[in-house]
Amino acid sequence: MAKASDKTTGGSWQQAGMATRCIHAGDTRDPATGAVMPPIHTAVTYARSGVDDHEGWVYARAGNPTRDALERCVAGLEGGARALAFASGMAATATVLELLDAGAHVIAPLDGYGGTFRILERLRPRSAGLQVSFVDCCDIGAIEAAIRPQTRLLWLETPTNPLLRIQDLGAACALARRHDILTVVDNTFATPVFQRPLEYGADIVMHSATKYIGGHSDVLAGLLVSAGDELGARLHGLRSMTGGVSSPFDSYLMLRGIKTLALRMERHAANAQAVAEYLAGHPRVRRVHYPGLPDHPQHALAARQMQGFGGMLSFAVEGGAAAARVFLERLEIFTLAESLGGVESLAGYPATMSHAAMPAAQRLAAGIGDDLVRLSIGIEDVADLLAAIGEALG
Ligand SMILES: *Cc1c(COP(=O)(O)O)cnc(C)c1O
Repeated sequence: MAKASDKTTGGSWQQAGMATRCIHAGDTRDPATGAVMPPIHTAVTYARSGVDDHEGWVYARAGNPTRDALERCVAGLEGGARALAFASGMAATATVLELLDAGAHVIAPLDGYGGTFRILERLRPRSAGLQVSFVDCCDIGAIEAAIRPQTRLLWLETPTNPLLRIQDLGAACALARRHDILTVVDNTFATPVFQRPLEYGADIVMHSATKYIGGHSDVLAGLLVSAGDELGARLHGLRSMTGGVSSPFDSYLMLRGIKTLALRMERHAANAQAVAEYLAGHPRVRRVHYPGLPDHPQHALAARQMQGFGGMLSFAVEGGAAAARVFLERLEIFTLAESLGGVESLAGYPATMSHAAMPAAQRLAAGIGDDLVRLSIGIEDVADLLAAIGEALG
């Protein structure tokens, strides 16, 4: 199973709870001064101790002390051997795909993040000859049926966006392992506080740290965490070659955000549960998608696999597209905007925002109707959120 790397051993935080790990994982204090936060190291190059010797850091694309501190922390949170920080979630995803040889086959979810869908569907088939099958990854039989002799990678993303469907990590990773297929899990929605895919046998965890990990809508960043050292070293080599590293300041912002990650996730989830229950009992709401509701189709799986149900939900408004638009225009406190996972509540309309690139027929077939509203529930007072939603529903 996953283990911490040598670099991250030595502290007592490995066995600690997630709130403790958010603050202490990786022991990110500055060893030179004892400062409780590492400095933002801006230097791009490092004096060598000799022609053949250096102190560990050589050039900032390969390694930077601020970024290294963040990476030790994130490896500790996910229980992985090595973490790597990138300039965006998509830079992290693109680097995973560099593991594959031309002509390899990838299995990915039909209802995955739009940017992942685009790089897999449009870019890499042209530039790298990738073959891709998009299937319903909540259905293990559908994944199994898509496996070919050239299949090298299974891409998972759970909970899904915007319907919050749950994929079975244990079953999917075991299936992939039997066929020698690498499994990558986009863990953006759950965060390591609520779900740790490496514990279920995944090889790589990916994050858009732009969302909950940064948590304050002020940093664009991505992360990869590998289960093993060897895979971590390969990914590090690929990142050094392609160059999509996280800057020292962004690395610092992530490290700062992570200190409160457990606290924030607890509040996001408690607020989302209350909003979901309120919406489920409202006469102007047709259907609520939130894994914490007992009537969610995979509620039992979510309860087993996750330590919390997260801060994202979606719902269908009675009255179709027109009613959904009126709701979004009337809604106070929530900002109508792309993105998710920040401290402030955001509202989105998947049909013209997050899922606009999806052909309408495919979008409707996937259950993402014109009456669907997506909410990223922030950490405000829940009474204010419920009042704003009640008012906007009329
Ligand atoms: C935002 C997002 C991404 C892409 O991350 P960027 O930081 O925007 O590049 C990938 N997956 C999920 C689930 C996301 O929400």
